[in-house]
Amino acid sequence: MVTLATTTGNGKAFISHAPGYWPEVAPELWNDWKWQLKNRVTTLAQLERHVDLSEEERSGVLLSGDKLALAVTPHFFNLIPRRKNPDDPIRRQVIPRIEETWTSPYDMADPCGEDSHMPVPGLVHRYPDRVLFLVTDRCASYCRYCTRSRVVSGVGEQELHTDFEEAFRYLEAHTEVRDVLLSGGDALIFSDDKIDKLLGRLRPISHIEFLRIGTRVPIFLPQRITPKLCGVLAKYHPLWMSVHVNHPRELTIEVKEALERLANTGIPLGNQSVLLKGVNDDLETMMTLVHKLLMCRVRPYYIYQCDLINGSAHLRTSVAKGIEIIEGLRGHTTGYAVPQFVIDAPGGGGKVPINPGYILYHDNEKIVIRNYEGKIFEYPETGGEQSVQFAPQREYHDEYLYS
Ligand code: SF4
Repeated sequence: MVTLATTTGNGKAFISHAPGYWPEVAPELWNDWKWQLKNRVTTLAQLERHVDLSEEERSGVLLSGDKLALAVTPHFFNLIPRRKNPDDPIRRQVIPRIEETWTSPYDMADPCGEDSHMPVPGLVHRYPDRVLFLVTDRCASYCRYCTRSRVVSGVGEQELHTDFEEAFRYLEAHTEVRDVLLSGGDALIFSDDKIDKLLGRLRPISHIEFLRIGTRVPIFLPQRITPKLCGVLAKYHPLWMSVHVNHPRELTIEVKEALERLANTGIPLGNQSVLLKGVNDDLETMMTLVHKLLMCRVRPYYIYQCDLINGSAHLRTSVAKGIEIIEGLRGHTTGYAVPQFVIDAPGGGGKVPINPGYILYHDNEKIVIRNYEGKIFEYPETGGEQSVQFAPQREYHDEYLYS
């Protein structure tokens, strides 16, 4: 089905919106990922040609240009309805708003403390056995809540100067590194040849067991997932991929087909969503999203609490909301569909799993648990020698012990 996005919709169906706002473009150009990149929406005039902006959005475009660039691929832009609806979950993710220029007391430029864990420019070594390799500062489109907006898009105060040769030497010398995650920016906007060379340089390092690519390209630019690119990626197994989908409407027919091409290449796919106010901070939206992801052969992997990135307070929602969503998913749908909710601990503490309180009580003799229906069960503790140290969940503890 080809249709312009005219309403917000619930996103349950897989729909193609091509060519949408670009009816004059021939299909062969539309399906060319380089055409998509060249024709991104990057200016206020281009935006206003297609959609009716609110004052907050117009001011946001005019005033946020030195923080994070505006760029949206035609494919993704077609998901935005024309009418003035600044609350639309797709436009909230990619069209700047004036609130981006405001700062809250909690805001940080580098919320995950990456810069202080960089032994080589562009290589973040925070966990003992794995590294994050920032291979570019460019993406197909820019997310207004990007945790790396200090460097991504090339317009902010800070620049990314990845030293590739130094990074390769570091990785060769550090035999404890078994897992390399390529991110940035987005490595999949490189040419096939450059991706081939990059993976080809990493794969022969014998202690590197596992390569991963973190990418939003299959969602912003599904045309990039060509059979030729898949052929390049297939040479470097085991290669895993984390994609980034926040709202079910992002899963269009083209995106589903691109994800299927990757899955058919033998690449295990996981999804990382960011919990965003007015985008996906409700159970129904998340339930639809995780079900559609499974249909695209993508395992919902993480839901991130939005990092404390500068100018993102208007997109942040409560931690309680994230817990409520997990509570509504766990037990109520397929286990594979339930992601792990995490907070990336501010300042560089790494990902901390946040779960609803399923453990009500635990000592050396027993553990008391509740299931998704709220029913309470006991299981005998069999450890014996190991002394259990546990702080019971406050709201259940008294109720269980004294009722
Ligand atoms: S695709 Fe990823 S790195 Fe690029 S702007 Fe979005 S969140 Fe940031």
